[in-house]
Amino acid sequence: MTNHELHYLTNADLHCHSTVSDGMLEPEAIASRAAANGVQLWSLTDHDEVGGQHRARAAAHALGMAYLSGTEVSVTFAGETVHILGLGFDADDAALREGLARTRGGREERAHDMAAGLAKVGIHGAYEGALKYVGNPELISRTHFARFLVEAGHCADTSEVFRRFLTDGKPGFVPHRWARLGEAVSWITRAGGVAVIAHPARYSRFTPTEEYALFTEFKAHGGAGVEVVTGSHSAAECDKYAEMAREFDLLASRGSDFHAPGESRTDLGAMPPLPGRLTPVWEALSDRVQWPE
Ligand code: AMP
Ligand code: MN
Ligand code: MN
Ligand code: MN
Repeated sequence: MTNHELHYLTNADLHCHSTVSDGMLEPEAIASRAAANGVQLWSLTDHDEVGGQHRARAAAHALGMAYLSGTEVSVTFAGETVHILGLGFDADDAALREGLARTRGGREERAHDMAAGLAKVGIHGAYEGALKYVGNPELISRTHFARFLVEAGHCADTSEVFRRFLTDGKPGFVPHRWARLGEAVSWITRAGGVAVIAHPARYSRFTPTEEYALFTEFKAHGGAGVEVVTGSHSAAECDKYAEMAREFDLLASRGSDFHAPGESRTDLGAMPPLPGRLTPVWEALSDRVQWPE
């Protein structure tokens, strides 16, 4: 595949996680799974971390896939957590790496506080239990706790864990301040990439006014894309955010948000195509796509 063929590309998966954040597969194993599912352009977007980027790109190229660098930055906006994907940036950019390192910084203490909250309702050893699932010690996340609670028999699956224990007001939830929206967007854009609002339908606590503010402020900071098709959007939600992309003149992205076999609803590359009358983010990033030899 060459540069001019980007326009005809049908299977881009620009959102997934490896053991470098809260996924269960190594970057090389995700690359193989993506290639086997027909993905032509891939991005590994670990939370707040670019430590897997060189491995991911090498694995993609060995399998003949084009690659875009990626990350998913945790942001606090209007008191809620919002995820901003960065795509096509220089993964060695010092300011980006420093910003992400700072964003990761509070996770260790938060994890201890989460374990303390869970201990109060009789769930003991959750910190140590979660750690067994952690691939990157700087990236202990709620997902790792969820896997331990399933393993320990407290819940049938990770969604039940989030519902009963890990969301606002529940015993294992610890409020946290992540990066600011403007910071995250500028780390990405100054490193040559495009910032994209991840899975916008998942911010269900936002009022329509807050959602409008998110899109407006995101654009004002230089954000340029929105994830229209993702594993966590229903068909109606894809349509809604396709319309928002047109209204706000944003590029459209597509990604599975794959974390682990059997745990993620949508497998790599197995999402519907982007709706019409949208500009795919990868067309705008044609200069940043890394092609295999
Ligand atoms: P953290 O960054 O530690 O707050 O963890 C956030 C991660 O938890 C997300 O990236 C998802 O992988 C996972 N997650 C969040 N909400 C849910 C949910 N309702 N069900 C399953 N996983 C979830
Ligand atoms: Mn995750
Ligand atoms: Mn996310
Ligand atoms: Mn994600």
